[in-house]
Amino acid sequence: MSYYNSSKRMKIIVIANQKGGVGKTTTTVNLSAALGELGKKILVIDMDPQANACSGLGVETEVVPNIYNVLIESVDISSAIYETQFKGVSIVPSNADLSGAQVELVEMQDREMRLKRALVQFRTQHDYDFVFIDTPPSLGLLTLNAFAAADSVLVPIQCEYYALEGIAQLLKTIKLVQNSINRDIYVEGVSLTMFDARTNLSKEVTEDVRAHFGGKVYKTVITRNVKISEAPSTGRPITQYASDSVGAKAYKELAQEILEKTKT
Ligand code: ADP
Ligand code: MG
Repeated sequence: MSYYNSSKRMKIIVIANQKGGVGKTTTTVNLSAALGELGKKILVIDMDPQANACSGLGVETEVVPNIYNVLIESVDISSAIYETQFKGVSIVPSNADLSGAQVELVEMQDREMRLKRALVQFRTQHDYDFVFIDTPPSLGLLTLNAFAAADSVLVPIQCEYYALEGIAQLLKTIKLVQNSINRDIYVEGVSLTMFDARTNLSKEVTEDVRAHFGGKVYKTVITRNVKISEAPSTGRPITQYASDSVGAKAYKELAQEILEKTKT
């Protein structure tokens, strides 16, 4: 019997930005759904105790096992994967218990490496095209576990806020991660979000970010769109909630662009 080595093509991407409210979860949810609709197989790992990625994908959070059991009790991550109702998208859910994990992890050996460990066998057993890890807005142990486990980092940047200071901080963090827990991690891409064409600030931020990151910045810019903010309360990604909206089109375009860039 032949087997394929799925580890070669699976890509694990952490969605990170230490600032809250910049579009991490929105990117995770909508990009996953858009890639799923394009025929890709996606796993979302929710590493935020707020579990917004779960609610955005209409998934129950009070289920066991979840990411807490994986990180703290070494439960096999394969048993914590749940299907969503959206094509190609599965999830390892989180819930409020995960905030306790921050504290429990401190006492553990290899406390930054728990997720990476959990994914070693997983990589050889599954054929996901992309694993997206959604992270909380802080640089605690949960985020560090995500950084340690990922191949690359995708950074959403909110165009409505003067972002460069935050970027400098994030670049420092990535350097730190490269020098300690994950030498090989690199910036997968930078996505500009909540762009508002009516404001100069949006244009300035866009120019600054492009000057800073060059070709790493995706051409697709996600504009501010009320449908995008409505979708999570319905438990559906934008591509399902309002498939003809500018927001849905933008995330489909971003998905295409990422596929072209990563050529999976
Ligand atoms: P984070 O995960 O970084 O904390 P979220 O993805 O939760 O950020 O986004 C913060 C808020 O902004 C959410 O209420 C979300 O619905 C809203 N939002 C995100 N992107 C857009 C957009 N392009 N247009 C309108 N609202 C958006
Ligand atoms: Mg979030």
